[in-house]
Amino acid sequence: MNRFTKITASIGPKCENREMLVKMIQAGVNLCRLNFSHDTGDVQGQKIDLIRSVASELNTPVGILIDLQGPKHRIGNFATEDKYPLTPGQQFVFDSDSTPGDGSRVQLPDSDVLRSLNIGDRILLNDGKIEMRIDAVFPDRAIATVIRGTEIWSRRGFNLPDTEIETSVLTDKDRSDLEYAITKNPDWVAISFVQKPEDIAEVRDFITARTSHPIKIIAKIERPNAVARIADIATAADAVMIARGDLAIEVPFEQVPAISRQIIRECRKLNRPVIVATQMLGSMVDSDFPTRAEISDVANTSYLRADSAMTSEETTIGMHPVDVIETMDKILSYADYDAINNPYDWSRVENIPENDWSRSVASMAYLNRAAAIVVFARDADIATHISCRKPDIPIIAVCNENVVACHLCLARGVFPICDNELYAARDAFNSARRFGLNSGKLVIVDGDKISLRTIE
Ligand code: PEP
Repeated sequence: MNRFTKITASIGPKCENREMLVKMIQAGVNLCRLNFSHDTGDVQGQKIDLIRSVASELNTPVGILIDLQGPKHRIGNFATEDKYPLTPGQQFVFDSDSTPGDGSRVQLPDSDVLRSLNIGDRILLNDGKIEMRIDAVFPDRAIATVIRGTEIWSRRGFNLPDTEIETSVLTDKDRSDLEYAITKNPDWVAISFVQKPEDIAEVRDFITARTSHPIKIIAKIERPNAVARIADIATAADAVMIARGDLAIEVPFEQVPAISRQIIRECRKLNRPVIVATQMLGSMVDSDFPTRAEISDVANTSYLRADSAMTSEETTIGMHPVDVIETMDKILSYADYDAINNPYDWSRVENIPENDWSRSVASMAYLNRAAAIVVFARDADIATHISCRKPDIPIIAVCNENVVACHLCLARGVFPICDNELYAARDAFNSARRFGLNSGKLVIVDGDKISLRTIE
C-alpha cells in the first residue's frame, strides 16, 4: 500500500482487450474512463462488461466512468477545398446557411450558438490556433474579424470562451448515450462543458428518473464560466475533473496551473474528489519513457493532494499503455511517499471549521501517529470526507457493496475492500491486517462512532 493518488485510465483501441486490461489493472488502474465521444452503445457496453469481469477475476475494485461528449461545437463543411487561407484583419462570416462554405463564410450548424453570440466574443478554432472576434450579430449570421491564424479547415471544432451558450448540457447524442449507459450501472458519469450548477441538477434528474442505482456525477471544468462558479458546481456534483485540454484553449494557458490549484483547494473544502486530466504522459503515445516535464506534472498531482491523475491518448491510442500505467504508478508512489514523509500542516492551510467531524478524525489520526483510519463504509460519503482532509494516513474502507468500493476508487488515500463478513463483524483489526498493517494504532470510524485503538 504505497500509492495514495489514484489512477484513472482512458480505455480505447490500444487497450480494450482482456490481456491489456489485466496488465493495466495489475499495474495500478483504479478507475476506467470510457469516452463516449468515440464509441457508443453496445460497443461501450461490451467494454464495461469486460472491465467488470477482469476486476472480479483479479478481485480488486475498479470503478467505471462514462464520459459524455457534451456540446462540442464544430463549423460546417467547405465547398471544394478542405481548407482555405485566412489573413489576420480580414472579415469572416458564420451563418445558418447549410450551403458549403468557402474562404469568406461557413455555417454554424448549431442554432443555439448563433443565438448566444455577442459583439466582442472570441471564437477559437482548431485547438485555439485560429482566433476571431465577433464584430456584428444578426439573427441568421455573425460577422467576425480574424485576429490570429492562417488557414481554416472544414468541420473543425471551436471554443467560445466568452459566451454563455444557452443550451442544455446534454445534447441529443448525450441523452441517448446516457440512456444506454445507465442500463450498465456505471459508477460515475462525467459531464462535459458544464457551465452552471443547474447543468448538474439536469443530469441528476435524468439519471434518477431512470434508475435507483447510485451513479455519481463528475463535473468537467473546461470553461471560464465554470471556473467562476466552481464552488456552486462542485457542491452540486459529486466530484470534479480539471479537463485541461479544453480549459487551456478557453482560458489563457498560463492560468491553467493556478486555476488547477484553486479548483483542488475549493474541492477539498467541499469534500469533493478531483481528477487532473489531459497530457499527463502525452509523449508516451510514441515513447516508452516520459519527458522530464511530464514526470514533474504527474508528481505535482500528488503534491497538490489531488485525488487522481488521468491518462488520455497515451493509453487509448498509444503504443505503450501498460508502460504508461507503470510509469504513472512509479511517479505517484514516490511523490506520495515523499509527501507523507514531509507532511504539510494541513490544519493550517484548510479553511475547515475546527469542530468539523472529519477534521477531528484526521487530526486524531495525525496526532496519535495512527497507522491507518478504518471506515466501515455503508456508502462512499464518510471515507470521501475524511480523504478530503488529506490526512496522509491510509484510509481502509471496508464496504459491503461493490458499488461503494468503486465510488471510492477516486478518493485519495482510500483503500476500499469489499468484504461482507468484515463489514458485518466491524472487524477493524483483520481489515488492517489484510493490508499488511500488523502493528500501530487505528482510528476506527463506524457510522458516527469514532474510536482509537492499538493493534495488539
Ligand atoms: C479535456 O478537454 O481535457 C478533456 C478531458 O475532455 P475531452 O477529452 O473529453 O475532450
